[in-house]
Amino acid sequence: MLNTLRPPRLPASVLQAFATAAYGLEGRWTPLEGERDQNFRVEGGAGSVVFKLCHPEEGEDVLLCQAEALEHIALADPSLPVPRLLRTRERNLLGHLEHEGRRYPVMVLSWLEGRVLGEDRLTPEALRDLGALLARLGLALRGFVSGAPAARSLVWDTRRVLGLAPQAALLPEEDGALAAEILARHRDVTAPAMRRMRSQIIHGDVHPYNALHGRDGRVSGIIDFGDMVHGPLILDLANAAGDFLHPSGDAAETLFEMVRGYQSVTPLEEAEADALLDLIEVRLVMTPLIDALKSANGIEAQGYFESFNGRSMPMIRELRRLGPGKLKGLVRRAATFPSEPARHAQTAEEAIARRRRVMGEKLYVFYDPPLHIVRGEGVWLTASDGRRYLDCYNNVPHVGHCHPYVTEAIARQARTLNTNTRYITDQSIEYAERLAGLSAEGLTAVVFVNSGSEANDLAWRMAKAFTGKSGGLAMDFAYHGVSEAIDAFSPSNAPEHWHAPHIRLLPPPDTYRGPYGADELGLGARYAALADPLIAELEATGHGVAAAMIDSAFMTNGILDAPEGYLQAIVDRVHRAGGLFIADEVQSGFGRMGTAFWGHRHHGVTPDFITTGKPAGNGHPVGAVITRPEILAHFLSFGPFFSTFGGNNVACAAGIAVLDVIRDEGLVENARATGAYLRQGLSALMVKHPLIGDVRGVGLATGVELVRDRKGKEPAGAETTRLLSLLRDEGVLIGGEGKFGNVLKIRPPIVFTRGDADIAVAAVDRALARL
Ligand code: PMP
Repeated sequence: MLNTLRPPRLPASVLQAFATAAYGLEGRWTPLEGERDQNFRVEGGAGSVVFKLCHPEEGEDVLLCQAEALEHIALADPSLPVPRLLRTRERNLLGHLEHEGRRYPVMVLSWLEGRVLGEDRLTPEALRDLGALLARLGLALRGFVSGAPAARSLVWDTRRVLGLAPQAALLPEEDGALAAEILARHRDVTAPAMRRMRSQIIHGDVHPYNALHGRDGRVSGIIDFGDMVHGPLILDLANAAGDFLHPSGDAAETLFEMVRGYQSVTPLEEAEADALLDLIEVRLVMTPLIDALKSANGIEAQGYFESFNGRSMPMIRELRRLGPGKLKGLVRRAATFPSEPARHAQTAEEAIARRRRVMGEKLYVFYDPPLHIVRGEGVWLTASDGRRYLDCYNNVPHVGHCHPYVTEAIARQARTLNTNTRYITDQSIEYAERLAGLSAEGLTAVVFVNSGSEANDLAWRMAKAFTGKSGGLAMDFAYHGVSEAIDAFSPSNAPEHWHAPHIRLLPPPDTYRGPYGADELGLGARYAALADPLIAELEATGHGVAAAMIDSAFMTNGILDAPEGYLQAIVDRVHRAGGLFIADEVQSGFGRMGTAFWGHRHHGVTPDFITTGKPAGNGHPVGAVITRPEILAHFLSFGPFFSTFGGNNVACAAGIAVLDVIRDEGLVENARATGAYLRQGLSALMVKHPLIGDVRGVGLATGVELVRDRKGKEPAGAETTRLLSLLRDEGVLIGGEGKFGNVLKIRPPIVFTRGDADIAVAAVDRALARL
């Protein structure tokens, strides 16, 4: 609806008498400009107010809605600089003045200090403030409900802009063509997108003549709630940005700062950010179109409308000159979306070539050709060619790739604070408490690091300090990390070159391939006894035993079902030798083994140290050593220990989130039940496939040992490599493990389901058949 109302012109004396009677208002009256109301400033003893005599034809519902909106905002965000409504003496929202047979609605509002901004320009800081103010206004109106704004038909309502299309023909030819192009884009792209945008009652018309500024040059008030509509929230920002752009200003900067300010209060949705520039053009083009409509109806443009009208088309041309692509990128950046989509290599080949150039010729990656993975979700990985793979291998994304609860915890904490443990931080305390709470028997001292290697390195240092000894025990073919000290515990790194005079390697308790078989008696004790001569050697060479470090899942040994009593018998021997036991829970912890939260509990032992890494942060670097307080205190008596990133707020938030997910989704039990189900399916394949020599494991750590003949147990290493590649073709990712590389390592995220297990078993079946 085109506004054809002109302000009423009643004698001031009539208004003053009414104001005194209905509102108790007295003071000095000064007339103010108004588009369709007769307005006065009234300066009285108690301050100034604006007295608005509205046109009798102005819809009562629209005025009441304005009054209610102002009262709503006063409660929702009391410090927002918008006028307050003054009720009548009888507590009515509106007054009503009867004069010469007509009934005029009246609204009285508090006077806001500041000057109308008009043609004055805002600094970048003030533009940012303005953006934030707009967002606060949107938030304050979010819960406001009224039917009037949705029902009214306003010519300025962007949702109705296509109704102005016929006016394009009335504009000068070039302007008309540009206007038609903008409207066509709106019809085809933006209007459909707007249907899905968050919508509410909005101010709708924040422009420089509805904005006040104070001495500091900042916007100090927003007035005129006469154009409220129900529409996409983004319109408040788009309309204001359109109106605050000025041909003499820096359009890019104005846009960037306003969006940045808005974003600081209410993050934009991506569709909103992408539509903003188009909506700004629409707002700008509305002025000449409405002007054309007005002239066609014999209404003369006046006041600030004229100055807007004069600059609208030049402003659009300026935006075009700056480049819509560039400006959209700028808006995206201000709204914290990447200004351009990340440059994914188009093909795996291109990615490999790029990687070689900057990361070295030797690739050290899985599969040939390697997989180029671009996305992960739950137990699924997606490659750049769009193919999905069932991830039966990765234990880092312990609770599923990109678990939304964890990623959100990381993002939320990253937005709030991320610093180190030299300050007292709630997240590190909570995470330490949670870890200690999960670790029984006096393991209550937690030290944070960033990886499994660091955790093991630190535990080893503590063990040496506490025992005064320097020798260690590790499993043959173990892996515990990358540091120099831990490389000594990791013979699998380079079996031929392993050399560590202070370390002895324990023969793995491998009941399939080792010296003692599954059907023999006292297996645990017999395998543990193999440690005796090694301990004796360490003592004889003067090293003694400072610690034994063992992975409860025996992962690198091919995922062994260690016989009952084995680990306890080792721990007893180590303790008797005056050493400590380090339970490396990088593989076996966090419920993977299904029978307990920590893998060592599956074996019933109590360690002196628990070390963690990999799964703790679901992909975010998190590492910790959990030990007894006296061991930590003794270590710290030699000097301080501090890890810059260890225990940072984001890492701890990630760690806490992972613990929440494991608890809330019942994942320890899932690992137990799904793991058993998976092994059942795999064992059943033994009937068909003689290559399978053994199926073993606990929880969701499963090993399938492949042999050329079941009797001689000749390791089928080359076959395993080929099988893994066939499985990749089947869309299933499984790893190879063990000293002979002949064990399928099935170690998926522990959200793995029975359905996933079915897919994996079927794929192994088909791949074996093809082999
Ligand atoms: N311990 C074990 C048992 C591991 O499997 C690993 C890594 N695979 C590590 C320690 C080392 O952890 P990180 O790579 O985080 O240093």
